Amino acid sequence: MAALLSVEDIQVRYGDLVALRGVSLSVAEGEVVCIIGPNGAGKSTALAAVAGGVVPHAGDVRLAGRSILGERPERIARLGVSLVPEGRHVFGTLTVAENLAIGGHLRGDRAAARADRERILSLLPRLGERLHGPAGRLSGGEQQMLAVARAVMTRPRLLLVDEPSLGLAPKIIDQIYEILLDLRREAALTLLINEQSSNRILRHADRIYVMRGGRIQLEGRAADLRDGEAIRQAYFGFG
Ligand code: ATP
Repeated sequence: MAALLSVEDIQVRYGDLVALRGVSLSVAEGEVVCIIGPNGAGKSTALAAVAGGVVPHAGDVRLAGRSILGERPERIARLGVSLVPEGRHVFGTLTVAENLAIGGHLRGDRAAARADRERILSLLPRLGERLHGPAGRLSGGEQQMLAVARAVMTRPRLLLVDEPSLGLAPKIIDQIYEILLDLRREAALTLLINEQSSNRILRHADRIYVMRGGRIQLEGRAADLRDGEAIRQAYFGFG
């Protein structure tokens, strides 16, 4: 399969701190890939480097073969990359419908945006029931679903999701992943997702990267890593 995203040996610094020390990864069209790693491993920085929020000082980032290194975030969004940042960031005082409209406003084709909204709401009936209420009244899991739905409204080719499980109950986490996988099928999405824990991810992802200390420590197919031992060793740095 051709790589939709190809991150090639990128290095990122914040002042004196080196956050990424030569990170390479790739995501094929239609794949669900997860980066797992402890706090501070560099996962958010890796997603930010793809979305244009930080610019690596070495290496390259390619989307469908073309370098997007140094492009502005708005331009990268228009090329089909959408980021759901950690902490959800829905607009709490706006309604659910208004939050979705913000995702759709980048789109020229209003009829297609409306059709997408209907499809997303049919997958997420709880958002449909609360469409005209303030987003800030939704539960944590519902806000996460809204943040994902808003990003999907931009019709991305590649959806980057930073720690969707953070602070949510296991049952809700499974629901979020079911929705992400439904969206992959329905909206032809490719997904790159950050998580701190591998517990539930191995069931949902096609491939896993384990990151620690600004480096990729392990890469493999989720099916081959199910027993968790190799992941534990890479994650904690022993073995
Ligand atoms: P978390 O799970 O906490 O989000 P992470 O794996 O996503 O962790 P990053 O947030 O990418 O890790 O952070 C990597 C390193 O870069 C950490 O040491 C962090 O403190 C540092 N860092 C991240 N953002 C900045 C910033 N804007 N300025 C300075 N240092 C930063």
